[in-house]
Amino acid sequence: MKAIRIHAHGDASVLRLEDAEVPRPGHGQALLRIEAVGVNFVEVYQRTGLYQQPLPFTPGSEAAGTVEAVGPGVTLVHPGDRVGSVNVLGAYAEYAVAPAEKLVPLPDRVSTRQAAAVLLQGMTAQYLTTSTYPLRKGDTCLVHAAAGGVGLLLCQMASRVGARVIGTVSTEEKAALAREAGARDVILYTRTDFAAEVRRLMGGRGIQVDYDSVGRTTFEKGLDLLAPRGMMVLFGQSSGPVEPINPQVLNAKGSLYLTRPSLGHYTATRAELLERAGDVLGRVADGSLTVRIDREFPLAQAADAQRALEGRGTAGKLLLVP
Ligand code: NDP
Repeated sequence: MKAIRIHAHGDASVLRLEDAEVPRPGHGQALLRIEAVGVNFVEVYQRTGLYQQPLPFTPGSEAAGTVEAVGPGVTLVHPGDRVGSVNVLGAYAEYAVAPAEKLVPLPDRVSTRQAAAVLLQGMTAQYLTTSTYPLRKGDTCLVHAAAGGVGLLLCQMASRVGARVIGTVSTEEKAALAREAGARDVILYTRTDFAAEVRRLMGGRGIQVDYDSVGRTTFEKGLDLLAPRGMMVLFGQSSGPVEPINPQVLNAKGSLYLTRPSLGHYTATRAELLERAGDVLGRVADGSLTVRIDREFPLAQAADAQRALEGRGTAGKLLLVP
């Protein structure tokens, strides 16, 4: 089979297409024939070495396809089942194994491409809006990178509960997409001081929650926009890591909450995984959640996909098709 391998950290040119053995499913594992791979920003952090991972490795954790074989002790899935997962062990490949308990069955009305496009970012938007800060009608949230993969899904979920969504994006094209996804106001944070603009839009009132995946360039200013007891949800760092923070700052700025959540901790049990995935896939199936697939690349062009993602050239999801 073909698989992408990384032998050294570096720019996207370290992603190499190689021949590899089809893996054998071990105890509790299933072998998947992968039909679509979801590309996520975390794979950029792993490629550059910002997040440590032993070398060499095949990147990727999100994929959907068909169960080809199962290892000893597996009763949850069977060969022929259509499944998706965000815990595939090396998803940038034609075949890969995953723990059977981390596989999610796909409803008939959701294609494998849609599943690979929505599972990780969709469950992220879902836990951020229902569990990390449970949004209510009348709340105002700030969504940075509002036309990104997570961003477009966050805008849809937040606006659906009746929250006011203020989005930030880098281009007019992305602004139009964020508005279509439910953002009432969109700020071009590359041209305008987003903090001053949020204050103007809010008439000086604070916002309840800041969903910040951009990090270095947005975090500090975002803290100043929160209402007393508001929540800063720092869930990514697309522009780079943020500086350490003194807890006293949270007091001075209004008894604020700060959290740095991660999807794994919100899908720790199979019951929670199935509940969140079921919610997201159900919304896709009934048409109430739209996943925008920006582009599909052949597996061999994984480097181009990552270049597009880190170069801010995408709006929505990127897929690799083996
Ligand atoms: P996106 O599609 O959001 O892509 C990143 C976007 O960030 C860009 O399109 C760009 O939007 C914006 N951005 C701002 N500054 C920069 C910069 N200097 N370099 C690159 N991009 C920049 O990616 P994803 O939806 O895959 O992920 C978004 C973030 O959420 C990532 O940081 C990811 O790690 C994190 N994440 C966290 C999870 C969690 O559970 N904690 C789970 C899933 C994702 P614009 O051009 O509009 O500025």
